[in-house]
Amino acid sequence: MTETTLYLFGILALLGVWFFHQIQVRYGRIQAIDVFDRSVERFYLYVLPNDRPSCPICVQSQGRVFLPSVVGKIGFSPLDGPCSGTVPCQGLLVGLYGGWLEARQVVSRLQQASKKHPVRVSSEELCALVKGDWSKSISADTDRIGVHLLEGWCFGKNDMPVAIEGLRYVVDRTKEARHLSYVVPAALRLMDLLLKAGREDEARLLIEQFESRFPADRQDIDGPSFAQRKTLQEMKSLLWETRSLKVSA
Ligand SMILES: [Zn+2]
Repeated sequence: MTETTLYLFGILALLGVWFFHQIQVRYGRIQAIDVFDRSVERFYLYVLPNDRPSCPICVQSQGRVFLPSVVGKIGFSPLDGPCSGTVPCQGLLVGLYGGWLEARQVVSRLQQASKKHPVRVSSEELCALVKGDWSKSISADTDRIGVHLLEGWCFGKNDMPVAIEGLRYVVDRTKEARHLSYVVPAALRLMDLLLKAGREDEARLLIEQFESRFPADRQDIDGPSFAQRKTLQEMKSLLWETRSLKVSA
Protein backbone atom coordinates (compact mmCIF):
# COMPACT_ATOMS: atom_id res chain seq x y z
CA MET A 1 0.00 0.00 0.00
CA THR A 2 2.75 2.44 1.01
CA GLU A 3 4.68 1.59 -2.19
CA THR A 4 1.61 2.25 -4.36
CA THR A 5 1.08 5.60 -2.62
CA LEU A 6 4.73 6.50 -3.29
CA TYR A 7 4.33 5.62 -6.97
CA LEU A 8 1.18 7.69 -7.14
CA PHE A 9 2.98 10.64 -5.58
CA GLY A 10 5.82 10.21 -8.02
CA ILE A 11 3.46 10.23 -11.00
CA LEU A 12 1.59 13.24 -9.61
CA ALA A 13 4.87 15.12 -9.08
CA LEU A 14 5.95 14.40 -12.70
CA LEU A 15 2.55 15.50 -13.97
CA GLY A 16 2.93 18.69 -11.94
CA VAL A 17 6.34 19.40 -13.47
CA TRP A 18 4.99 18.73 -16.97
CA PHE A 19 1.95 20.95 -16.32
CA PHE A 20 4.20 23.77 -15.04
CA HIS A 21 6.38 23.43 -18.15
CA GLN A 22 3.32 23.60 -20.42
CA ILE A 23 2.12 26.78 -18.70
CA GLN A 24 5.55 28.37 -19.11
CA VAL A 25 5.54 27.42 -22.82
CA ARG A 26 2.01 28.73 -23.28
CA TYR A 27 2.87 32.10 -21.80
CA GLY A 28 6.02 32.32 -23.91
CA ARG A 29 8.38 32.30 -20.93
CA ILE A 30 10.25 29.32 -22.32
CA GLN A 31 10.35 27.63 -25.69
CA ALA A 32 9.37 24.02 -26.06
CA ILE A 33 12.20 23.58 -28.55
CA ASP A 34 14.84 24.95 -26.16
CA VAL A 35 15.68 21.46 -24.98
CA PHE A 36 16.72 20.48 -28.50
CA ASP A 37 19.69 21.39 -30.63
CA ARG A 38 20.23 25.11 -31.05
CA SER A 39 23.00 24.77 -33.62
CA VAL A 40 20.58 24.24 -36.48
CA GLU A 41 18.27 26.41 -38.51
CA ARG A 42 14.55 26.52 -37.76
CA PHE A 43 13.66 28.67 -40.74
CA TYR A 44 15.06 30.19 -43.91
CA LEU A 45 14.41 33.71 -45.15
CA TYR A 46 14.69 34.81 -48.76
CA VAL A 47 16.01 38.37 -49.02
CA LEU A 48 16.94 40.79 -51.78
CA PRO A 49 19.20 43.81 -51.35
CA ASN A 50 16.96 46.87 -50.98
CA ASP A 51 19.35 49.26 -52.72
CA ARG A 52 19.37 47.76 -56.20
CA PRO A 53 16.69 46.83 -58.73
CA SER A 54 15.51 43.22 -58.86
CA CYS A 55 13.38 41.39 -61.43
CA PRO A 56 9.62 40.80 -60.81
CA ILE A 57 10.10 37.06 -60.21
CA CYS A 58 12.64 37.63 -57.43
CA VAL A 59 10.69 40.57 -55.96
CA GLN A 60 7.69 38.26 -55.61
CA SER A 61 9.71 36.05 -53.29
CA GLN A 62 11.18 38.82 -51.15
CA GLY A 63 10.66 38.04 -47.44
CA ARG A 64 9.39 34.50 -47.97
CA VAL A 65 9.98 32.14 -45.07
CA PHE A 66 10.59 28.41 -45.43
CA LEU A 67 10.93 25.40 -43.15
CA PRO A 68 14.29 23.56 -43.31
CA SER A 69 12.42 20.42 -44.42
CA VAL A 70 11.16 22.34 -47.47
CA VAL A 71 14.56 23.88 -48.27
CA GLY A 72 16.16 20.44 -48.03
CA LYS A 73 13.99 18.97 -50.78
CA ILE A 74 15.65 18.19 -54.12
CA GLY A 75 14.98 20.90 -56.67
CA PHE A 76 13.83 23.45 -54.07
CA SER A 77 13.84 27.08 -55.16
CA PRO A 78 12.59 30.10 -53.22
CA LEU A 79 11.46 31.51 -56.58
CA ASP A 80 8.34 30.69 -58.60
CA GLY A 81 10.38 30.66 -61.81
CA PRO A 82 13.83 31.48 -63.12
CA CYS A 83 15.23 34.95 -62.36
CA SER A 84 14.48 37.22 -65.33
CA GLY A 85 17.01 39.97 -64.61
CA THR A 86 19.54 40.82 -67.35
CA VAL A 87 22.03 41.00 -64.50
CA PRO A 88 21.11 38.16 -62.09
CA CYS A 89 19.42 39.45 -58.91
CA GLN A 90 21.27 39.06 -55.63
CA GLY A 91 18.65 37.13 -53.68
CA LEU A 92 19.91 35.10 -50.75
CA LEU A 93 18.43 32.39 -48.57
CA VAL A 94 19.54 32.87 -44.97
CA GLY A 95 19.03 30.18 -42.32
CA LEU A 96 18.35 31.10 -38.68
CA TYR A 97 17.54 29.36 -35.42
CA GLY A 98 15.90 32.58 -34.22
CA GLY A 99 15.81 32.63 -30.42
CA TRP A 100 14.84 36.29 -29.97
CA LEU A 101 11.35 37.76 -29.84
CA GLU A 102 10.88 38.88 -33.46
CA ALA A 103 12.40 35.66 -34.82
CA ARG A 104 10.32 33.48 -32.49
CA GLN A 105 7.21 35.16 -33.86
CA VAL A 106 8.28 34.17 -37.38
CA VAL A 107 8.85 30.58 -36.21
CA SER A 108 5.38 30.33 -34.68
CA ARG A 109 3.78 31.87 -37.77
CA LEU A 110 5.60 29.31 -39.87
CA GLN A 111 4.46 26.44 -37.65
CA GLN A 112 0.85 27.55 -37.95
CA ALA A 113 0.94 28.36 -41.66
CA SER A 114 -0.80 26.24 -44.26
CA LYS A 115 0.68 25.22 -47.60
CA LYS A 116 -1.76 27.52 -49.39
CA HIS A 117 -0.70 30.58 -47.43
CA PRO A 118 3.06 30.60 -47.08
CA VAL A 119 4.63 32.99 -44.59
CA ARG A 120 6.10 36.20 -45.90
CA VAL A 121 7.61 38.95 -43.79
CA SER A 122 7.30 42.58 -44.84
CA SER A 123 10.32 44.87 -45.17
CA GLU A 124 9.41 46.46 -41.81
CA GLU A 125 9.17 43.05 -40.12
CA LEU A 126 12.48 42.02 -41.64
CA CYS A 127 14.09 45.22 -40.43
CA ALA A 128 12.67 44.72 -36.92
CA LEU A 129 13.95 41.13 -36.93
CA VAL A 130 17.52 42.18 -37.80
CA LYS A 131 17.45 45.06 -35.31
CA GLY A 132 16.02 42.80 -32.58
CA ASP A 133 17.81 41.75 -29.42
CA TRP A 134 19.40 38.73 -31.09
CA SER A 135 22.80 39.12 -29.41
CA LYS A 136 21.27 38.48 -25.98
CA SER A 137 19.20 35.51 -27.11
CA ILE A 138 19.89 31.81 -26.67
CA SER A 139 20.81 31.61 -30.36
CA ALA A 140 23.30 34.50 -30.43
CA ASP A 141 26.27 32.31 -31.40
CA THR A 142 24.27 30.18 -33.83
CA ASP A 143 22.77 33.17 -35.62
CA ARG A 144 25.64 35.70 -35.55
CA ILE A 145 26.70 35.03 -39.16
CA GLY A 146 23.09 34.93 -40.38
CA VAL A 147 22.17 38.24 -38.75
CA HIS A 148 25.29 40.01 -40.07
CA LEU A 149 24.42 38.69 -43.53
CA LEU A 150 20.91 40.09 -43.22
CA GLU A 151 22.37 43.46 -42.15
CA GLY A 152 24.36 43.44 -45.38
CA TRP A 153 21.26 42.69 -47.44
CA CYS A 154 18.77 44.93 -45.62
CA PHE A 155 20.66 48.08 -44.70
CA GLY A 156 22.49 48.89 -47.94
CA LYS A 157 20.11 51.79 -48.55
CA ASN A 158 19.44 53.17 -45.06
CA ASP A 159 22.53 52.35 -43.04
CA MET A 160 25.43 51.50 -45.29
CA PRO A 161 28.13 51.46 -42.55
CA VAL A 162 26.17 48.77 -40.64
CA ALA A 163 25.69 46.79 -43.86
CA ILE A 164 29.42 47.01 -44.66
CA GLU A 165 30.52 46.00 -41.16
CA GLY A 166 28.05 43.10 -41.11
CA LEU A 167 29.33 41.75 -44.42
CA ARG A 168 32.94 42.21 -43.40
CA TYR A 169 32.24 40.08 -40.34
CA VAL A 170 30.82 37.31 -42.53
CA VAL A 171 33.74 37.42 -44.98
CA ASP A 172 36.45 37.50 -42.28
CA ARG A 173 35.00 35.35 -39.53
CA THR A 174 33.00 32.53 -41.12
CA LYS A 175 34.42 29.20 -40.01
CA GLU A 176 31.60 26.68 -39.73
CA ALA A 177 30.97 24.47 -42.75
CA ARG A 178 27.22 25.28 -42.79
CA HIS A 179 28.05 28.98 -43.35
CA LEU A 180 30.82 28.66 -45.95
CA SER A 181 28.47 29.06 -48.90
CA TYR A 182 27.65 32.57 -47.64
CA VAL A 183 31.23 33.86 -48.02
CA VAL A 184 31.25 34.43 -51.80
CA PRO A 185 27.89 36.26 -52.01
CA ALA A 186 28.80 38.31 -48.92
CA ALA A 187 32.18 39.27 -50.42
CA LEU A 188 30.63 40.31 -53.76
CA ARG A 189 27.96 42.32 -52.01
CA LEU A 190 30.62 43.95 -49.81
CA MET A 191 32.68 44.93 -52.89
CA ASP A 192 29.56 46.42 -54.45
CA LEU A 193 28.77 48.50 -51.34
CA LEU A 194 32.38 49.64 -50.91
CA LEU A 195 32.41 50.83 -54.51
CA LYS A 196 29.10 52.65 -53.99
CA ALA A 197 30.47 54.27 -50.84
CA GLY A 198 33.55 55.45 -52.76
CA ARG A 199 35.84 53.32 -50.59
CA GLU A 200 37.86 52.09 -53.58
CA ASP A 201 41.05 51.19 -51.70
CA GLU A 202 39.14 48.85 -49.42
CA ALA A 203 37.32 47.37 -52.44
CA ARG A 204 40.64 46.78 -54.21
CA LEU A 205 42.12 45.07 -51.14
CA LEU A 206 39.05 42.89 -50.76
CA ILE A 207 39.26 41.82 -54.42
CA GLU A 208 42.92 40.86 -53.95
CA GLN A 209 42.07 38.84 -50.83
CA PHE A 210 39.15 37.21 -52.64
CA GLU A 211 41.28 36.18 -55.61
CA SER A 212 43.95 34.65 -53.43
CA ARG A 213 41.32 32.82 -51.36
CA PHE A 214 39.49 31.54 -54.45
CA PRO A 215 42.07 31.23 -57.26
CA ALA A 216 40.54 31.08 -60.74
CA ASP A 217 42.23 27.74 -61.51
CA ARG A 218 40.79 25.98 -58.47
CA GLN A 219 37.30 24.52 -58.19
CA ASP A 220 35.94 24.98 -54.69
CA ILE A 221 32.52 23.71 -53.62
CA ASP A 222 31.85 27.00 -51.83
CA GLY A 223 33.84 29.03 -54.34
CA PRO A 224 32.44 31.46 -56.90
CA SER A 225 30.27 30.20 -59.75
CA PHE A 226 30.84 31.23 -63.36
CA ALA A 227 28.27 34.04 -62.99
CA GLN A 228 29.87 35.23 -59.75
CA ARG A 229 33.32 35.34 -61.40
CA LYS A 230 31.76 37.45 -64.14
CA THR A 231 30.35 39.87 -61.53
CA LEU A 232 33.82 40.10 -60.00
CA GLN A 233 35.34 40.95 -63.37
CA GLU A 234 32.71 43.65 -63.89
CA MET A 235 33.52 45.19 -60.53
CA LYS A 236 37.24 45.08 -61.34
CA SER A 237 36.71 46.94 -64.59
CA LEU A 238 34.50 49.47 -62.81
CA LEU A 239 37.27 50.02 -60.28
CA TRP A 240 39.79 50.41 -63.10
CA GLU A 241 37.56 52.96 -64.82
CA THR A 242 37.17 55.02 -61.63
CA ARG A 243 40.92 55.01 -61.15
CA SER A 244 41.57 56.12 -64.74
CA LEU A 245 38.96 58.87 -64.34
CA LYS A 246 40.65 60.06 -61.17
CA VAL A 247 44.09 60.04 -62.81
CA SER A 248 42.88 61.98 -65.87
CA ALA A 249 40.92 64.52 -63.80
ZN1 LIG B 1 15.71 38.05 -60.46
